[in-house]
Amino acid sequence: MNNLKLEKVSGAARAGVLKTRRGEIKTPVFMPVATRGAIKGGVSFEEMENLGAQIVLGNTYHLFLRPGDELIQKNFGDLHTFMHWNKSILTDSGGFQVFSIKNKKITDDGVFFNSHIDGKRFFLDAEKSIQIQLNLGADILMVFDECPPSKIANPTGLSSEKLERKLFFKVLRAVEKTTDWARKSKDHFEKSFASKISPKERPQLFGIIQGGCFSELRQKSLKEITAMDFDGFALGGLAVGESAIEMYKVLDEMCPMMPEEKPRYLMGVGTPENLIEAVSRGIDMFDCVLPARNARHGTIYTWTGKIRIANARYKEDKKVLNEACGCVVCADKKLSRAYLHHLFTVGEDLAKKYLTIHNLYFYQDLMRTMRAKILTNEFENWKDEVIKKLSV
Ligand SMILES: [Zn+2]
Repeated sequence: MNNLKLEKVSGAARAGVLKTRRGEIKTPVFMPVATRGAIKGGVSFEEMENLGAQIVLGNTYHLFLRPGDELIQKNFGDLHTFMHWNKSILTDSGGFQVFSIKNKKITDDGVFFNSHIDGKRFFLDAEKSIQIQLNLGADILMVFDECPPSKIANPTGLSSEKLERKLFFKVLRAVEKTTDWARKSKDHFEKSFASKISPKERPQLFGIIQGGCFSELRQKSLKEITAMDFDGFALGGLAVGESAIEMYKVLDEMCPMMPEEKPRYLMGVGTPENLIEAVSRGIDMFDCVLPARNARHGTIYTWTGKIRIANARYKEDKKVLNEACGCVVCADKKLSRAYLHHLFTVGEDLAKKYLTIHNLYFYQDLMRTMRAKILTNEFENWKDEVIKKLSV
């Protein structure tokens, strides 16, 4: 099924329309993260829609533990109805969260882990992960993968060469498992829909390419994953501790080799600068907790760099957060930095909400602007100028 219609390519940057069974998504797109069925910071889905969000991400691991995918399916049909969001939902596979748990046992088939809530032991594998995502009614599902760390501990003082070799084999095993689990994920996914449903009405399944920062392993993973006919392809295992330069190197190498007609998703990235650099290399989709998390900690994004709202310099500042911003906080309510500084420093919940709305709007605005610049072929010139201003 051809789910991505490319409208314009400027350099390597792409503007297109991604079709899911819930409607059209203009790309490049940023997907805010609704971890446990809500955007952190107290922002409602109605407000999310008003600030331009086209698709949100739900976390399989969290929703499986609480309230449970089966509870949602049995009583409400899907996550959309449960949380009252009618646009598309992408669910992760739960792999990333499960692999970051300390107390776990990885086997060839899957992962045994203890819930972070009550310590109860669970097992997650490819089939189970896909089934949870199907129960949640996701429009885009992700295969179950192993996300290896970018660095490993060195308690015995190995030489840097030996340490690198040890990491290489760890990442190689993760690549092999990811390919095996991708096949199992796809089998289970396809079995669920066997001839019952047309491709337009069924959800989509994306494959994930792993391989850390090792060129050889990235290429191996890309070859094996793209050989399977997924609806889209994601780059996983980035933004896990490597430098931005290392990440861009992986993108430089991978993007030209990824299928042109399929959506490309860079998982868990990143800062506004990261998004611009990745779009310029040909990425279409992103998700990240950063704009909402930073808002809750008082770091605000503007078109002229970051603001730390707790700073005393804003105590009597009558200006809005960002003159160029069209969000409810800046453009409609015209709330001053002084008021937001006050709410933030006294710890009012409203500060978190307003600052989250502003940051999420900024990310949507950034994507809309990139898309417009690609469509008019001005992306490259715009990129150099705006990155200079943003990195203040
Ligand atoms: Zn704003």
